[in-house]
Amino acid sequence: MVIGSLNMDLVTNVEKTPLVGQTVFGNGLVKHEGGKGANQAVAIGKLGGNVSMLGMLGSDAFADSLRNNLKKHNVDAKYVFSSTKAPTGTALIMVNQNGDNSIVVIPGANYELSEDLIEEKYFEAVDFVLAQFEVPKQTILKAFKIAQSMGVKTILNPAPASKINDEMLKVCDMLVPNETEFEIITGLSANSQDSIIKGAKVLFNKGVKELIVTLGEDGAIYLNSTGKIFKATAYEVNAVDTTAAGDSFIGGLLSSLANDKAIEEAIEYAIKVGAITVCKNGAQSSLPNKAELEQFKGVKKNEKR
Ligand code: ADP
Repeated sequence: MVIGSLNMDLVTNVEKTPLVGQTVFGNGLVKHEGGKGANQAVAIGKLGGNVSMLGMLGSDAFADSLRNNLKKHNVDAKYVFSSTKAPTGTALIMVNQNGDNSIVVIPGANYELSEDLIEEKYFEAVDFVLAQFEVPKQTILKAFKIAQSMGVKTILNPAPASKINDEMLKVCDMLVPNETEFEIITGLSANSQDSIIKGAKVLFNKGVKELIVTLGEDGAIYLNSTGKIFKATAYEVNAVDTTAAGDSFIGGLLSSLANDKAIEEAIEYAIKVGAITVCKNGAQSSLPNKAELEQFKGVKKNEKR
């Protein structure tokens, strides 16, 4: 189960980003289903995983599109609720002629996913619960506490980057940050293995059991509280757009773990999913399905670190 955000991304191209008080013309308007929660759920669904989502939409046309999109990608939307108090989460994205983005995110209904909505029954048929930081932290905390007490494994992707308090770390079985997120959580650099080991120890002392730091084109590193550590290199690919790389990695990881694969195999699978995603433009549209994965014949990069 993924607990997280659902957003409608509205994208237009402008020649120059408007200054304060200025009005400019936009060229085209494209709508993309997004939100980290929905992206990760769709990533799992596209790979054939058995996935459900817990989230909050508004009561508007975007809500209908986002709900249909989940269904289209085999994500069970039974616990995606509708708020009458706030609009569906929306991101207004302007891309100028240099390719630079200006973005306004309106969390809207995502912030209405309050902790009092969380019930034990949601987790009865669940093996893994995955969350990110685009819905209220209190809600994630309550959900993780309940899920963990029921024997459900809890996984946190701390994105967008934000500090995590000890109460939350205590209920995270697995933490999957990228380099920036790792640095913000631990206050330590992610550019050497020694530093990552040092940060991992602090996290393990606070209750985290497993840590995966994704390292972009350098792959990922896994560490656990019993001292196991291994590094997985990325594939040598022609990356055109790294949007959703992390979301796809996590989708691959979870769909593989839910298929009872060992962690080494799950990470190798996730790295492959990430490699295919960065070769295409877009977020959800770049997430691969099972067939694309089977056809992928990539070459691994030489180990750099
Ligand atoms: P995020 O998108 O959260 O910043 P990363 O950039 O660490 O996450 O990417 C997640 C995963 O996607 C990496 O661990 C790697 O496997 C894959 N990946 C990302 N960028 C590249 C790249 N340029 N070439 C190959 N694989 C990549």
